[in-house]
Amino acid sequence: MSQSDACVFCKIASGRIPCLKVYEDDAALAFLDIGPLAEGHLLLVPKDHCERLEEMPGDLLGRLMQPVGRLARALMAVTGTGDYNLLCNTGRAAGQAVMHVHFHLIPRTPGDALGYRWPAGKYEPGRGEEIAERFVRALRTV
Ligand code: 5GP
Ligand code: ZN
Repeated sequence: MSQSDACVFCKIASGRIPCLKVYEDDAALAFLDIGPLAEGHLLLVPKDHCERLEEMPGDLLGRLMQPVGRLARALMAVTGTGDYNLLCNTGRAAGQAVMHVHFHLIPRTPGDALGYRWPAGKYEPGRGEEIAERFVRALRTV
């Protein structure tokens, strides 16, 4: 198990600082966020230290995702809402404050305080095709 001494989620994963744990398996841990956006707001973290989502080996990411469906069903049962967001903030500009991969599972209710700006844009003619082709080329090398 690779861990970082300075990392708060590594400390939680190894039991050095407490959390309100709701789920644990070989690879992952889920617990209540200490600053919930809504009651029942969960964090799902890998036990291994990894700063960014795209740095995680695929098999570990698969194991981390394995309990998401059950956690979501439990969240719905516990909070009484059928709606939620699954978010992984990656990098400072995306709002990542703790540099250990984590997924937020956030219960949502109509008109709740979280809000969600989604200012959808529009591609100029040909631009979408150009961007998609760049993705296809990039995916051959990354
Ligand atoms: P980020 O902004 O990095 O996506 O979210 C980090 C989350 O971790 C925040 O929602 C914050 O409340 C939560 N958090 C930070 N430190 C602790 C802690 O020591 N215990 C728990 N349970 N949550 C924490
Ligand atoms: Zn860590």
